[in-house]
Parts: sequence; C-alpha cells; structure tokens
Amino acid sequence: MVENVPCLKHQHDGLTIEGYSRAAVQTCWRVNELKLLFDVGVQPWDFMGTPTLFISHAHLDHIAALPAYVSRRRMMKMEPPVIYLPDSAVDTAWDMLQNFRKLDRGSMPCELVGLLPGDETDLSREYVVTALPTRHTIDSVGFVVHHRRHKLKPEFQDLSGPEIRDLKGAGTEVTTEMRIPIVAYTGDTLSLIHI
Ligand SMILES: [Zn+2]
Repeated sequence: MVENVPCLKHQHDGLTIEGYSRAAVQTCWRVNELKLLFDVGVQPWDFMGTPTLFISHAHLDHIAALPAYVSRRRMMKMEPPVIYLPDSAVDTAWDMLQNFRKLDRGSMPCELVGLLPGDETDLSREYVVTALPTRHTIDSVGFVVHHRRHKLKPEFQDLSGPEIRDLKGAGTEVTTEMRIPIVAYTGDTLSLIHI
C-alpha cells in the first residue's frame, strides 16, 4: 500500500492500532475496529474514512491536518466527521476551519464537540469514551474507551427467562452496567499524580 506519511501498525487483543507519533512533528492514530482516530497532526490518506476523531490538545503536531481531514471527507462525499477536542479549543478551531474556507473556497462540514475532563461520549451502545484530565502546557484531555456490557443483577440470577422479561416489561432495571477499559490514549502529559 502506498503511504503518504510514516505509519506503524500493531495488533493486540482484537484491536489494530495504526499511526505514528514523533514529538513536536506529528501524532496521529487510528483504531479501525472502534472506528475512531486520536489526534491529527498529519493524516495517512486512508484514515479519512474514519468518521470520529478525538483530539487531545491543540498543539500543531496534534491538530495540523484537521482542515485536510474535514475537506477530504467532503470531497469524497463522506458524512461530516464528529470531532471531539478540549472545550477551550472549540471556538478557535472552528474559526481556523472557517478561515481555510475563505482561502480554499471549499466548505468545511463537521461537528466540533468540546470536552472537559470527566465527560463521557457514547460511541455506540457497546462503547463509551471518557475524557481524562492530563497535564500539559495548554488545555488537554486524554481518553479511555470502555466496552460496556450489561450483566444481570445477582438478585435476578435464579429467575427464568419469562420472569425476567416480565420484570423488564414492568419497568424494573434487571441489569447493571459493567465497563471494561480497552484502550487509553493520553496525548502529551506529565505525570498525573499531582492532578
Ligand atoms: Zn503538546
């Protein structure tokens, strides 16, 4: 496959981590099975097919290819991407995209969503992303992707299927949610001990 930028690949426990990170130059990652990207300092061509992007902070080596990502998806007639980034960076990132619109004369369809540490984002019924506090020279967040499973509450474990169905039908919450962390991405951060 022809690549426009360096790209490493590692498979672990059913997930394929692809991308590249070099301090102060470029950072970008994709987890294809989860259909999400982390950071966009540069962008391998085929990463544009992934519709959800989490940006840890607005340093140039983590955000420089944002206009290219949004614009390429529009040109390829893909859905506008949803881009999560630190809350304080949203307005300026939006202005930056609008300035590119003036320069390029192409529209920049996307949704920018601000995150604060502790915010939760549902990727799907199965996966949820939590924003973590990180420590850097500008506002930043890290991310943990959790796999969400619903487990029958212990008090209902001896009941039959129809009995459980009846309880559910009557509005009883019969399951509890279990969350298993499967991927964490911190971006640039110092030790978190003092947060
Ligand atoms: Zn940085």
